[in-house]
Amino acid sequence: MGIVAERVRPTVARVDLGVLKSNYRAIREHLKRERPTGTPGVIAVVKANAYGHGAAQVGRALEDAGADLLACADIEEGAALRAAGVRADILIFGALSVSDLDGLFDCRLTPTISSPGAARAVQAAAARHKQRVRYHLKIDTGMNRLGFRADNLRRTLPELLRSENLDLEAVFTHFATADDPASSLFDEQRQRFDKVLADLHALGARPRYRHAANSAAVVRDPRVWFDRVRPGLLLYGIVPPPLQSTIALAPVMTLASRVTAVKGMRAGEVTGYGARFTAKKPTTIAIVPAGYADGLDLRLAGRGAVLIRGRRAPIIGSVCMDMIMIDVTGLDASPGDEVVFIGRQSGDTIDAREMAETIGSIPWEIVCRVGTRIERVYA
Ligand SMILES: *Cc1c(COP(=O)(O)O)cnc(C)c1O
Repeated sequence: MGIVAERVRPTVARVDLGVLKSNYRAIREHLKRERPTGTPGVIAVVKANAYGHGAAQVGRALEDAGADLLACADIEEGAALRAAGVRADILIFGALSVSDLDGLFDCRLTPTISSPGAARAVQAAAARHKQRVRYHLKIDTGMNRLGFRADNLRRTLPELLRSENLDLEAVFTHFATADDPASSLFDEQRQRFDKVLADLHALGARPRYRHAANSAAVVRDPRVWFDRVRPGLLLYGIVPPPLQSTIALAPVMTLASRVTAVKGMRAGEVTGYGARFTAKKPTTIAIVPAGYADGLDLRLAGRGAVLIRGRRAPIIGSVCMDMIMIDVTGLDASPGDEVVFIGRQSGDTIDAREMAETIGSIPWEIVCRVGTRIERVYA
């Protein structure tokens, strides 16, 4: 009874909801500045637990900042947003599993329909619920993932358009290479989508609006902004590499911990599994209580660094399940010192882009994989 008080582990992900809202507003202002008339709206992407930031808090904060349409991956994520009290419209991007279609109605979610089979299943479910369903039509313009093939719509669309209980709210596509300026596929997809819009019109389809742009496409090409844009990464204050942007964004998440122990090593001694680090001279190391179970990548050992006492300290040895070792020789480190994995300390910054580059990954993965064991602390 009352033995364990509520505790927060030393390793925390601080999520600044004020910065999140300010990023959302900065994106809106950018769109308005670049296109004062017919300014596109925003679909705020909060899939994958809001890129690891916490879908409930992020969803509510974005709604607070004025977002009227959020998007997530599946019905389960949509249900979680509703359970958190989000009242804005919620678009489900992903494939729908037929078994849980009732969630669309229970939670008032907007499905994406991306195949004739899905169209039939949603129509049948809507008829059963005696409801009309607004849906977004997804067109595959060359990524070859989900979506109706752009070159086959005359055959596949008429049945969907005739579905009694289904209302076409919007049409969209998704780019495979918006973050790769060297790829020609982006322009090919853009042109195919323009053609699709003409084809839809010829088939009698009248979507109320169109959307295509993920973060990279928002940054890169106003021609694909259409009526709404769909930023995910930008909301969290990260610009997709290798692109740069003038939008006034700041990172929402800081990932930090505290030193658990400090110890001296003699020249010739090793640390960690596999004995991968050997001290060449007397060395001081600090033990930090975060490891691969918290989402830290094994490849950080021997490559990455953390910020401690205003300096960069290399991650050495091996990333363990629950801890890492850092070389703090000469830094006068002691237990309790703050250790920053992602964020700022004394004027230096390690951001998700840098960490991704260090391990050969992408910043989306860096934030999404911040482990469930790490407490999110909201400010
Ligand atoms: C995830 C996702 C986005 C957002 O992508 P970012 O690169 O994070 O901006 C947009 N559209 C769709 C369909 C997505 O799945």
